[in-house]
Amino acid sequence: MRYGIFSDTHANLGALEAVLREFDREKVDALVCIGDTVGYGPQPDECCEKVRAVTRHTILGNHDAAVSGRMDYSYYYDAAREALDLHASLVSSENMQWLKSLPYSAKDDDTHFCHGSPLDLEQFEYIFTVDQASTCIPIWEDLGQVTFIGHSHLCKAYALGRERVYEVITKDFEVHPEFRYIVSVGSVGQPRDHDPRASYTIYDTDRGRFEFKRVEYDIAATAQRIFDETRLSDSFGARLFAGV
Ligand code: ZN
Repeated sequence: MRYGIFSDTHANLGALEAVLREFDREKVDALVCIGDTVGYGPQPDECCEKVRAVTRHTILGNHDAAVSGRMDYSYYYDAAREALDLHASLVSSENMQWLKSLPYSAKDDDTHFCHGSPLDLEQFEYIFTVDQASTCIPIWEDLGQVTFIGHSHLCKAYALGRERVYEVITKDFEVHPEFRYIVSVGSVGQPRDHDPRASYTIYDTDRGRFEFKRVEYDIAATAQRIFDETRLSDSFGARLFAGV
């Protein structure tokens, strides 16, 4: 199986369409979205519609949980919270039902998917350091060969031995059966690694081969939609140009 895996679209339809075009060209067999389809951006309903139509699995992210009334987000900073309030009013009733129904995790044999750390799915803990990945050693036996996560908006991969965790620093690699892997797939719609291009990944289970990929999209067009929507903070548009 050749998977196309992506996460953290954050209502950025232009970035999502660019990534889906790449998946078409790459001839993937199945698409998986790791969550946070909504939040921050200008087109939450359009993104839900598209993701819902094309994915084999879509996982619940914290922003999806907030918008669909499944999580308290009163402690989020003002601009993020206001975007979530706005998005709750913009998604269609079908898409709201879909957000309410999304699972915290999914598994296809030895390939697992969840938004934050697999340790406690409902807590949405970040994993973007070796120390954070090491907290999963106690559940090593329960991890898939690869567990795909999102949430941090960073492209990171960790190989977990039974006692030690190593960061994998290449953009593509082959999995070794003696390790378990946790791979953070980056963000389609709001990358934070100073590379503003949309992030997506490919995992070929037959070959045991994983790849981080990037594609350019029309950042100015998405940013302009954010600037034009007075109920969204302009900072959500400005940050897209810098990839932060
Ligand atoms: Zn996110």
